[in-house]
Amino acid sequence: MDKQEELPRAEVARPRRSRHVLMLVGIVAGAVLGLVANELVAYGVVEKRVIDAVIEWGAYPAGQIFLRSLLMLSIPLIFSALVTGIAELEPKALGRMGLRTLAYTTVVSTLAVITGLALVMGIGPGEGDNRELVALADELSGGKAPVKAAEGAGITGVVTMIPTNPIAAAATDNTLGVIIFALVLGVGLAVVRTENGRRLRETIGGLNEVCIWLVDVVMLIAPIGVAGLLFASFANLGIGLLERIGVFVGVVLFALALHTFGTYSVLLKLVARRSPFQFFKQIRMAMATAFATSSSAATLPTTLRVAEEEVRLPRHVSRFVLTAGASMNQNGTALFEGVTVLFLAQVFGVDLTVGQSLVVMLICVLGGIGTAGIPGASLPVIAMMMAMYGVPAEGLALILGVDRLLDMCRTTVNVAGDLVVAACVARSEPTTEPAAGVTTPSSASGAR
Ligand code: ASP
Repeated sequence: MDKQEELPRAEVARPRRSRHVLMLVGIVAGAVLGLVANELVAYGVVEKRVIDAVIEWGAYPAGQIFLRSLLMLSIPLIFSALVTGIAELEPKALGRMGLRTLAYTTVVSTLAVITGLALVMGIGPGEGDNRELVALADELSGGKAPVKAAEGAGITGVVTMIPTNPIAAAATDNTLGVIIFALVLGVGLAVVRTENGRRLRETIGGLNEVCIWLVDVVMLIAPIGVAGLLFASFANLGIGLLERIGVFVGVVLFALALHTFGTYSVLLKLVARRSPFQFFKQIRMAMATAFATSSSAATLPTTLRVAEEEVRLPRHVSRFVLTAGASMNQNGTALFEGVTVLFLAQVFGVDLTVGQSLVVMLICVLGGIGTAGIPGASLPVIAMMMAMYGVPAEGLALILGVDRLLDMCRTTVNVAGDLVVAACVARSEPTTEPAAGVTTPSSASGAR
């Protein structure tokens, strides 16, 4: 018996098709029950401490066990997928794919930010009589900055992208540092064609296969995990706040939807030459996981699987574009950061010139590269931009209560965007056969 066949198969316990349905049931049940709990507390039918206990002893552990298990596998998976993906490539192909990925990422992120900024400027959700909102921000924040601003913009940010110690990068969740080290190691392995080099390549390939199988196992608890995550989020959603800043929330959601179903659809049709409807159907499991976890890093294992098995992208393209993309190509995040900075500037009456708005746009596009793929990672970048333009830091308190809902939506757009860019890059790449000794995720966890 071959080694692959000895691996237990997670999916035997549950057919793949029923997983979509169960995941959806988990999302809907968690969200609806959370909203009901929120209302029961608001109307005084149930005490807040009862719901807090349900979250503490039920929803929180269920959700966090699922989320943390995925995050635990994400660094070894990014590392092994990227190293094996790159080691298979010719240096010329790597350069070509790298440039294309960078070009698509920049264009799509810029379009995302322009969509958001145009809507926020056109609709002006923060304009008009804002005294009430300013007072609310003050009350919610207690006059203190609720989020620490990000540091390291500019050239320092670029230089420090290179980790001085790859182990420290992995240990401190510096995903970008891990990606850069994996890129460098992958190139080294592609060039050094010795016996020891081959063994190392195979070992890292083995790590990749095991991680993929483990992700399959973790996904078995996805319906319970997502129900827990959504219950906790919706039970704590600031519904009252949602009413006060409803126009802002509406602008963010509308801009995200426009970018997803407008810009992505056009790219899919014209560049990737795929039916947008089919494509979104194929990637629904990745979008659902992103929505539930609010983390593109935690979704990455599912994104990789969906790319290879459902969208059928060539493995060398999906591994390269998606691992790098999960942390660099964050369209939803870039759009959200731009809209939020401008909204808060409007609320506090800070007039930004056209030049300053363009700088905001640039930082948002670049900010997407530096923003980690974890829940709430945008907030420090927004705080940094607010400090740059003298928008009071307390303003962010207005957003915090509804941020989880917006995070779910922008992460879904981030993950969909990674897959769209991968599909566009794949269109112009030759489909190469995998190198000997390296297996696909499908073969690692059994035929489907
Ligand atoms: N949660 C987002 C992600 O993981 C990052 C953010 O915008 O906060 O993609």
